Amino acid sequence: MNRETGLDRLRSEENWDILIIGGGATGLGAALDAASRGHRVALVEREDFCQGTSSRSTKLVHGGVRYLAQGNLSLVKGALRERGLLFNNAPHLVNPLPFIIPSHHWWQAPYFATGLKFYDWLAGDLGIDRTRVLAKEAALEAIPKLKPDRLRGGVKYWDGQFDDARLAIDMATTVWKHGGLALNYVCADELVKENGRITGAVCSDTKTGESFRINARCVINATGVFNDSLRRFDQPTANPIIKASQGAHIVLDRAFLPMDTALIVPKTTDGRVLFAIPWLNRVLIGTTDTPVDAIERDPRPLPEEIEFIIENAENYLDVAISESDIKSVYAGLRPLVSPKSSTGSTASISRDHYIEVSPSGLVSIAGGKWTTYRKMAEDVVNRAEQSADLTPRRCMTRALPIETAQPRPEGAPLHPDLPYTLNQIEASIDKEMPLSIEDALARRTRATVLDQAAASAIADTVADALVAKGVLPATERDASVSAFRASLST
Ligand SMILES: Cc1cc2nc3c(=O)[nH]c(=O)nc-3n(C[C@H](O)[C@H](O)[C@H](O)COP(=O)(O)OP(=O)(O)OC[C@H]3O[C@@H](n4cnc5c(N)ncnc54)[C@H](O)[C@@H]3O)c2cc1C
Repeated sequence: MNRETGLDRLRSEENWDILIIGGGATGLGAALDAASRGHRVALVEREDFCQGTSSRSTKLVHGGVRYLAQGNLSLVKGALRERGLLFNNAPHLVNPLPFIIPSHHWWQAPYFATGLKFYDWLAGDLGIDRTRVLAKEAALEAIPKLKPDRLRGGVKYWDGQFDDARLAIDMATTVWKHGGLALNYVCADELVKENGRITGAVCSDTKTGESFRINARCVINATGVFNDSLRRFDQPTANPIIKASQGAHIVLDRAFLPMDTALIVPKTTDGRVLFAIPWLNRVLIGTTDTPVDAIERDPRPLPEEIEFIIENAENYLDVAISESDIKSVYAGLRPLVSPKSSTGSTASISRDHYIEVSPSGLVSIAGGKWTTYRKMAEDVVNRAEQSADLTPRRCMTRALPIETAQPRPEGAPLHPDLPYTLNQIEASIDKEMPLSIEDALARRTRATVLDQAAASAIADTVADALVAKGVLPATERDASVSAFRASLST
């Protein structure tokens, strides 16, 4: 991937088959699907790839155990199938993860085990391993910090885990490998219509202000929680369909909470799910589903969310979490699609994806989840082909390897508390289009998620590498380091 080459293509090439707006899981998935079918596709993302919700997930590739409890079998079955396909297509980023649901009453283990055996059965040939009921000792052996009082045992089942931002960056790399174009820091400012039909968009390079008109036979709106803004570029009076729901996580050192098995509490004090998940030598503890009205580009955890996470984690784990134990925090906004007459909480809103084709041909997609991005892409590209009368082509992504440009680490890590080396930062600058220290440390590597203090400590080295490779002007180096450090405040 090279941004200058990409911008030249945007300037010179006429008439794309498909223009995709939004470079999160949904947009990148659609770009990969379209490019691998052989369509001429360009994607524009106004920030960095997956800067929004798609780098802020719980990092699970899962069927969704809680949707099973809601009886949504087709959703769970579809997601379990996608989980299996992702294991095959991105084995470098996806791994199996055992989970324990602790039981505190006699009926809980048989109740959870019955549901989870059904979950295994729904996964069919793409299942991971079978669900087992654990005695108290075995549950404590898997998660030594589980509070032993009241604990009767637990149920162990399997799901998948991945690195969300790395998958997004690797998807962008794979889009380019298949002849598609995906560019960061290019914003869609307006849609272009001719004779009542959308024929492209006016976009701008947010780094220089240069404006381009991009002509395309079909435009896909994959802007996540910003979906309604794009829909209103098309139809100013369009009814909103997005209901944003915030989720937050805190990140602790694995030494503080040693566990290789994840903990899931299906019902906390207020009914929300709580996860504690080992990930890249850390533990992520988080929850989802706080309805929010304000849709921010860089949402931060609310103080009450952090309090809720700590309080509930301490109910189940024998730990006392203080501010100094927290290595980082992050929050994301789930782009749920609201039903026509929305009254209930976002937790009761459909988790399936939703595709709408407007009278002028704008194809909007929202909802779903990371795990199901491939199926969402298949469906939306099918609709785009129909809507724009493109020659229908066969979807190729069921067995399409996701490639990576990230090399193995060489030499000493840049910081004792981080796994990343200079050769990885340099390779990402050469091949993965980071334009800032944050791009390199939040999404090409996951340093800011793993440990904000350590990420801050290596900011100078990363800035020097960006200057040496001509990405960052030397005159802006010090200000960039300061801005990056300021952005880390939790
Ligand atoms: C807290 C939390 C935890 C989650 N955990 C999981 C999980 O464990 N597993 C799972 O499967 N799913 C999970 N999800 C769901 C999953 O993360 C989302 O469904 C998915 O990331 C949404 O991707 P998206 O591409 O639709 O949206 P986004 O990632 O938000 O991408 C939309 C992009 O559009 C861009 N954009 C907006 N307007 C414009 C414009 N005018 N021009 C150009 N670009 C524009 C934005 O900058 C943004 O990058 C979680 C969600 C949350 C909130």
